[in-house]
Amino acid sequence: MPNYIPAAKPAAALIVVDVQRDFMTGGALAVPLADEKLPAPEGILPRVNGLMAGGGYARVVLTQDFHPAGHCSFASTLGVPLYAKGKTAAGRGQVAWPDHCVAGTAGAEFHPGLYARYANAIIRKGVNPAYDSYSGFADDGGEQTGLAGYLQSAGITAVDVAGIATDFCVKATALHAHENGFATRVLLGACAGVAAAGIEEAIAELRAAGVVVIE
Ligand SMILES: [Zn+2]
Repeated sequence: MPNYIPAAKPAAALIVVDVQRDFMTGGALAVPLADEKLPAPEGILPRVNGLMAGGGYARVVLTQDFHPAGHCSFASTLGVPLYAKGKTAAGRGQVAWPDHCVAGTAGAEFHPGLYARYANAIIRKGVNPAYDSYSGFADDGGEQTGLAGYLQSAGITAVDVAGIATDFCVKATALHAHENGFATRVLLGACAGVAAAGIEEAIAELRAAGVVVIE
């Protein structure tokens, strides 16, 4: 049975999550298979660009992880080893990542190969030093980024999600899109994830929540 369901265009938007230098090859938090030098399906950039330029979406939104120095998601701030679980000053459990996507640094920039000119809006997330924000809609403290309102005011009813990383920010953004009432799909072929096991878990969690995951 084919699992491809055409999006309800033109009321559909594409959200491209965190296609930034620090998440690509050579970056501080490089995600496997995100590199533009690899041909699709190994590298996601050609597919993401194709969707942005020719996907027929009414709106294209880029999210951008954009942390202040000393952000609560950094191992250097939490004082625990990389990738261990620490606790933020606000008392939240937090995975300890390398310093990444620090505002004003090259690592926070979009990948130069990304067709950013096709974007209608850029949503920066993780800007509050006290809270992380895997989701493009709201941070861990519940503060909205404005993305839901932006899409709703544009008459958007359906959302496709692509980008990095499948098992973290893509998942969180898709779950919040669904919670905000958008018919939500994750386009796996245009996503890159951190770990195979985590990706499988993310797919199961997304499907259980009602998000359509397209292989
Ligand atoms: Zn981050």
